[in-house]
Formats: sequence, C-alpha cells, structure tokens
Amino acid sequence: MFWKKKKDKEKPETWGKAARTGKWRSTTSLKAKLDKVFSMYIRLRDSKEYGYEYFRCVSCGRVLPFEQADCGHYISRTNMALRYSEDNCSAQCRFCNRFKDGNILDYRQGLIKKIGEQRVTLLEARKHEAKKWSNWELERLIEHYEGEVREMRSNT
Ligand SMILES: [Zn+2]
Repeated sequence: MFWKKKKDKEKPETWGKAARTGKWRSTTSLKAKLDKVFSMYIRLRDSKEYGYEYFRCVSCGRVLPFEQADCGHYISRTNMALRYSEDNCSAQCRFCNRFKDGNILDYRQGLIKKIGEQRVTLLEARKHEAKKWSNWELERLIEHYEGEVREMRSNT
C-alpha cells in the first residue's frame, strides 16, 4: 500500500520528533549561547580587581591581559550540573587551560584560596551529578548573565 511504503521511508521517530518540534536544535543553540555569555561573565568577574584589563590565572597565578583569559572549569565542562556553576569556573590562562589539561592540581590550590576549601569540597562531591537543562532554564540563565555582562561592561 502506498501509505505504508511512505511510512517506511520516515526517519526514526526520535529524530523525526526532535526535528519537527525544533527542540534539539534550540537546546543546542541555547547551550552554545549560554556558554558564550557565561564565559564572558566569568572572565569579567575575575578581572574586576584589575579594572577589567588584567586577570590572575587561577592555576599558575600569572597576571595577564584580559584578552588572554579563558573560562576554565575545575570539574570538567562535560558535567552539565556544574557547567554553569560560578564556583566551578575561573579565569585561567590559555596555557594552563588548553595545554596543561586544566593544570588541575594548581587549580585546586588557587580555588581554595579564592572560595575556601569547603566550597571546593562541595564541588567535588557533585562531580558525578547529572543535570538536564530545560530550554526555559537555559533562557533564564542567558537573560541573567547577559544582564550581568552588560552591567560590568558599562563600568569599563
Ligand atoms: Zn595559568
């Protein structure tokens, strides 16, 4: 029968549903958008004491120009529960973030100095926590951090 043949040609149901509703695409692009604004927020926050012109790398302690800052995650950014945690992220130099695999032992020491051992331990306890962000939550976080970034940028 014609209708049956047509049905066989359809893409798998999950793919088809996500594509029809646009949900997959929008969740992915919302995360990308939030990654970007959250990273900017962290780098601005951590360069505030240097007038937004310099930052101190959380791991190696070097003071470098703002343009050279990355947003480095203490617990890997693959952990969605801590990906947008302010305690879990710091301005970090590119060398430590990209070439020293996060320079994690020094990161821990720097983070303890910054937020205290108790909060670092709390982060570590959540290392295996799972989190699935809804589009609504992602949108609210984007709004929040866009506002923070706008505010800090207006002070530069
Ligand atoms: Zn560094």
